[in-house]
Amino acid sequence: MRGPGYDAGMPALPPSLDPPRRVLLGPGPSEVPASVLQAMARPTLGHLDPRFLALMDEIREMLRGLFGTANGWTLPMSGTGSAGMETVLVNLLEPGDRVLVGVNGVFGGRIAEAARRVGAEAVEVAGEWGRALDPDDFRRAARAAGGSFRLLALVHAETSTGVLQPMEGWRELADELGALLVADVVTALGGTPVRLDEWGVDAAFAGSQKCLSCPPGLAPVSLSPRAVERLQTRREPVRSWYLDLNLIARYWGGERAYHHTAPVNLLYALHEACRLALAEGLEQRAARHRRLGAELQAGLEGMGLELRVPAGERLPQLTAVAVPDDVADAPVRRFLLEEFGVEIGGGLGPMAGNTWRIGLMGAGCTRANVALVQAGLRAALAAPVRA
Ligand SMILES: *Cc1c(COP(=O)(O)O)cnc(C)c1O
Repeated sequence: MRGPGYDAGMPALPPSLDPPRRVLLGPGPSEVPASVLQAMARPTLGHLDPRFLALMDEIREMLRGLFGTANGWTLPMSGTGSAGMETVLVNLLEPGDRVLVGVNGVFGGRIAEAARRVGAEAVEVAGEWGRALDPDDFRRAARAAGGSFRLLALVHAETSTGVLQPMEGWRELADELGALLVADVVTALGGTPVRLDEWGVDAAFAGSQKCLSCPPGLAPVSLSPRAVERLQTRREPVRSWYLDLNLIARYWGGERAYHHTAPVNLLYALHEACRLALAEGLEQRAARHRRLGAELQAGLEGMGLELRVPAGERLPQLTAVAVPDDVADAPVRRFLLEEFGVEIGGGLGPMAGNTWRIGLMGAGCTRANVALVQAGLRAALAAPVRA
C-alpha cells in the first residue's frame, strides 16, 4: 500500500474506489445509463479545441429542443441546479429590485433567499405545501404589496412536495406586473414536457441529474430575448463574476473567449444524455413518465399509503408519500438501501421525518423499478422496522 515516494508518517492510502451499484429512486441523482458513463471516459479535449467547440454547439441545439425554445441564450452552466437558479437571479436582478415568488415548497423558498442575497426584495406568496399555486393569489399579493416587480418566479416541478405546477395564466400576470417570468424546471427537464416559448417563460434553469439521467454538475439555463435585453441594460455589473452570463456567452457564443475551464468530460456526458432523451422522443418520454408514475402512485395507494399531493396535481417523476404514524422514517430507508440496494429520499423542511420521496426519473423510470420499490416498501413495513 505504501509505495516509494509516499512519505513515512502519512496515513495509509485508501483503496481504489469501488462504489456499490444502487438503484437510485430518490429525488436525484437518478440512474445514469452506461453510454452516458462511457461518454465521460472518452479522451479529455482542450476546452478551446475546435472539436470540443463543435460539441458545445450541438449541446446548445439539443438543449433548445429539450426546453421547447428558440432562445439563442441556452447553455449549461458549470454547477448543479442551484447554480442555475443563482445564475438567473444574479444576472436579472439588481439591488433594490423586487421579486414576487411563490413558496409552496423548499425550492420556492430558496429562490426567495437567493434573490435577497443579490440585494433584491423578495415578496413571498405562501402556498400550501403539496398544492399548486394560483395566479390570482399572486395578483392579490402584488396589489397588497404595491410597487413594481422585476421578476415573477415559481417552481414548475416542486421536488420537495411532488407538485406539478400548471403554467397557464402566468405570462398574463407577468405582463400585468411588467415582470419577467422565471421558472424552476430542474426536475421537469427530460421528464415532463417543458415548453418555455409556449408558456412565455423568460428565464428557466434545470439540472443534469434528475430526468436527464446525467451525473450532477451541470445546470442548463435559457434566457428569452426580453431577459437578454434586461441583462444588457443593467445599471451595474452582475455581482457574480463566475456566473456572469455576459462573460459566459462570449465563450459559448461568438468569440470563444476563455472565461473558466469548461468541465469537458461532464459535458460529454450531457451531450450523450441529451441525445438519448431526444432519440427516445420527448412526447414518448413524457408518456413513459406519466404512465409509470401513475402506476406507482396507484400501487402505493393500494398498499394503504397516503400521498402528499391530490390526484391531478402530482408530478409523475417524484412521488411524496406520508410516512405512516407508527413507522419510523430513517430505518425504512436504510432497510431499502441495505436489503434491496434501493435509494429513496426523505422529506425536506416541514416534511423532514414524515415523508418519503420516490423518484422515477429518466433512465430510472422503468416498470421493473416500480415493482422493486413497492416490494421493498412492503418488506420494510413488515414488523422489524416499525417504530
Ligand atoms: C434539485 C433541485 C434544485 C437544486 O438542484 P441541485 O442540483 O441540488 O443544486 C432546485 N430546484 C428543484 C426543483 C430541484 O429539484
